[in-house]
Amino acid sequence: MPDTFRALRVHKTDQGQEVRFEDLTTADLGDGGTVVRVEYSTLNYKDGLALTGRSPIIRNFPLVPGIDFAGVVESSSAEDGFTPGDRVVLNGWGVGESHNGGFAQKAKVRGDWLVKLPDNISTRDAMAIGTAGYTAMLCVLSLERNDVLPEDGDIIVTGAAGGVGSTAISLLSNLGYRVVASSGRKEAEGEYLTRLGAAEVIDRADLSGPARPLARERWAGGIDSVGSHTLANVLSQTKYGGCVAACGLAQGMDLPGSVAPFILRGVTLAGVDSVMRHRGDRKEAWGRLADDLDFKKLAVMTTIKPLSDLPALAEQILAGQIRGRVVIDVNA
Ligand code: NDP
Repeated sequence: MPDTFRALRVHKTDQGQEVRFEDLTTADLGDGGTVVRVEYSTLNYKDGLALTGRSPIIRNFPLVPGIDFAGVVESSSAEDGFTPGDRVVLNGWGVGESHNGGFAQKAKVRGDWLVKLPDNISTRDAMAIGTAGYTAMLCVLSLERNDVLPEDGDIIVTGAAGGVGSTAISLLSNLGYRVVASSGRKEAEGEYLTRLGAAEVIDRADLSGPARPLARERWAGGIDSVGSHTLANVLSQTKYGGCVAACGLAQGMDLPGSVAPFILRGVTLAGVDSVMRHRGDRKEAWGRLADDLDFKKLAVMTTIKPLSDLPALAEQILAGQIRGRVVIDVNA
């Protein structure tokens, strides 16, 4: 009998969809050339949508969700070129959406979707960073590529207590930027955000209403995981020549602003997608995370949960109740 392993799989039903815990074999996982023994996965906003079915994230049923994972290569085709024992991480590429993902003890994927982990990042830390942290790093790279330097002034981070926000604060403060955190949980999480490196915490209500075309120049740059009015306000408050990296839509997918910041202040809006990002940027981002992230702060923002908690956690992340990063121990 072939080796079985534990997985969470989502099935389509007449009522919509159903989450089941099952024993699978690698034959159930599809065509990839590299089998990975998954050690940790993590909970992302998109996983919350996939698990609850609240948005049509899953394209093929039945499917193992989980848009990221870290583990150890068990076997790899000659073409994929990994050696058994290699420690790898996967983010995106439609895994957990169109291809079976990380909420299982094994995954089978294309080798060119995997990145070898830097020596000083454990598989657990890799998932504490997760797609949220890797995306935060891509946002930091965007600010750097647009010449936003620590001496230029404050950086605003929205969705501050979430996964992207928490890692962005930690990275930026470590790099010498003065960070202002915008959060709807200022009272409850103010101390946590300060511990991560925020110099100041503002109430997200300050940014969540309709934006004026231009407002007082406050930010040299920003990392926004919220979108909608919040992003419009951040853009209208960005200083001449500044840059805002936008990666998320926690408030909404719309952008109800004006072109004034772009045409009158030369502000750059840098879009950040982590899912289909090319390998060069992925390797650079993971290399920079190895160098620039304070792993003590990473521990502060991380909680570890078993696979069986995922259905409840999915509801919590959609309700904005998760703080920082939730790592899923698929073997617990
Ligand atoms: P989290 O749920 O961990 O964090 C989102 C945070 O946004 C919340 O913690 C909350 O922070 C804030 N927030 C929630 N609802 C609202 C609201 N209605 N108005 C204003 N702020 C709100 O998610 P992640 O950090 O993992 O992801 C953040 C966003 O980035 C998501 O939209 C996600 O889809 C997107 N994303 C995009 C990626 C890409 O490749 N482009 C990759 C990864 C994520 P607080 O309580 O501090 O206000």
